[in-house]
Amino acid sequence: MTGDLTVTLETLTPLWTGDVAGKCDRVHETGIIGSLRWWYEALVRGLGDRACDPTDTTCEYKPNKSNNGLCDACHVFGTTGWQRRFRLIIEDHTEPLWSPPTQMLNVRPPGRRRGWYLPPGRVGQIRLRLTGDSSVLVKMVTLLRFLERWGAIGAKPQLGYGLFRIVEIKGEPREPGGWKMQEPLPSHTSLPDLRHLAFFRFRFSPQGKGWWTRLPGMERLLGDNDTARALQQAVDREMIPVSPALKNAWRFERWQGPRDAERELFGTAFGRGDPVRSKIAVSWAYPDGDAWEVRGWVWLPAQDRELSSDALQQLWNIVRDEKAWRKVLNAPSGRLTTVPDVETWQAQSVEQVKSFLEVEP
Ligand SMILES: [Zn+2]
Repeated sequence: MTGDLTVTLETLTPLWTGDVAGKCDRVHETGIIGSLRWWYEALVRGLGDRACDPTDTTCEYKPNKSNNGLCDACHVFGTTGWQRRFRLIIEDHTEPLWSPPTQMLNVRPPGRRRGWYLPPGRVGQIRLRLTGDSSVLVKMVTLLRFLERWGAIGAKPQLGYGLFRIVEIKGEPREPGGWKMQEPLPSHTSLPDLRHLAFFRFRFSPQGKGWWTRLPGMERLLGDNDTARALQQAVDREMIPVSPALKNAWRFERWQGPRDAERELFGTAFGRGDPVRSKIAVSWAYPDGDAWEVRGWVWLPAQDRELSSDALQQLWNIVRDEKAWRKVLNAPSGRLTTVPDVETWQAQSVEQVKSFLEVEP
């Protein structure tokens, strides 16, 4: 049975779906689909099912094979010889968070030579109109509800882009989830799997209206008319770029481990070879009810050559250190919650992932 599903989203932090030229003059469908697929794969793997590595896939449509020769992610999102199981049309009601002449805001806390580069991204509402098999649309609703609570859409989630709140869901299919629950497969070291992802949320009441001006790196931006104006536009939208300040504190003030693990966990933007994506994603600050929030996640992959269990534990300790959060955000009464709520890091079970996702078996 096919259906039509409409999900309206409102941005909590700017949305970035850059094109090949590195511009984001509108919300690009490919950027949304790419991020949905990344999360969908992590979710499928977290539930113990198979999702191939899309950069090196063996999935190909073969009608005589079981599941047509496709993993669950390729079945839904498509691969060679097999179309995506839903059609997506985006109604874009967004605008840039700040206007020219400022393109990038370079947030450079004291002591950093390069700092972090933040593009404006887009803010406002987007409406996702999905058409396809009801069984697939049900999964998309689960995915979007999960991303609303804990994840993000679009690119640059590591720098806090793409958080949203669901304004309205229309045409939600009335049928059970359709997640296959079977003997779980072991997790993979190099592919995202919800069993190896942990989530955090810091809730705080800022000290005074200008609290954000004291964040490391802000003074420099406020000293220039153009960047001060861009920053003020973000502040007027109640979106405060706190991610560089937090990452700076975690990486350069707290991390004590070896250099190769540091690069694996915190990422590399420059240098030789492929850039390594940071394993930590942390959002900007946004208001929620009577307080403000910052949230994100950390991917603690199974141990491998660069990553010992000590390195993963150290990263977990750093992220879980409530005092450090309070200090960076100057929020003495702020409270941190994490999922899972454990001191010693260990991967979660499929059962834990299931209850976290709130999916019916
Ligand atoms: Zn596949």
